[in-house]
Amino acid sequence: MVMGATHAVSGAVAGLLAAQVLPPEWGGPTSTAEVFTFAGVCAGAALLPDLDTAQSTVARSFGPASWVLAKGVDEVSLWYYRLTRGRRDPKRRGGHRTLTHTALFAVAISTAVSALIVAFGQPAIIGTLFLTLGLALRGLAGGWAKRNGWIAVTVAAAVLSVLTWRWYPDEVGSRALGVAVGLGCAVHCLGDAITKEGVPFLAPFVPWRGRRWWEFQLPSMLSIRAGGTFERAILGPLLTLAAVGLALWAIEGVPAAVTDALGEWQALR
Ligand SMILES: [Zn+2]
Repeated sequence: MVMGATHAVSGAVAGLLAAQVLPPEWGGPTSTAEVFTFAGVCAGAALLPDLDTAQSTVARSFGPASWVLAKGVDEVSLWYYRLTRGRRDPKRRGGHRTLTHTALFAVAISTAVSALIVAFGQPAIIGTLFLTLGLALRGLAGGWAKRNGWIAVTVAAAVLSVLTWRWYPDEVGSRALGVAVGLGCAVHCLGDAITKEGVPFLAPFVPWRGRRWWEFQLPSMLSIRAGGTFERAILGPLLTLAAVGLALWAIEGVPAAVTDALGEWQALR
């Protein structure tokens, strides 16, 4: 799998892009605050699928609570893998990179989050923000999170989620947070699929040669090494630049100001 920071930044880029195209009737963001919230949730959700092994860095995000959760998700994933395994799928001892790395999971969690927000409103919104923004902190400020430990991450996530909720109280737009979570999970899978390991994105619905858990993967010539030079020197910086550019563009008034400035510059020539 690629590094946590790469997952989180690609989630932010996808969130910022989606925020531009998602229609307001579907809960698409209509203000700068909503765009940033949508992107932040998407960035954190892009780490969510790795909460399926207690060995991942994300599993340590919220201390013992997330560790136990990751253990549980690992068990459930393994159980589901065994239940749906095709006759040629290999035997597995752990559930990492199975259930949470599928389109099924992305759609299911997206639907579940939206349903919870519609049913419970405020507590569900704050809960979603808390979990995803905490993960986003872990991914985007990994050095800080490591130095200060999980209690600091948890406190920061709690403060951030309440502040964001107060800053962003639109109930209609909040339903789109489910979409942001699902999108983040899908982007995570895309990230894992470009490394040598691959992901069983369509499992268990599309059997192929006796396997239901076959993995999407780039040809080995094109696939990248997780944490390798390409990721650190090219992919990471490019994604970061894209995220910063899109974030600036999302600020109310900036696109108009840029268009004006370009017009003036044209007139001067
Ligand atoms: Zn993964």
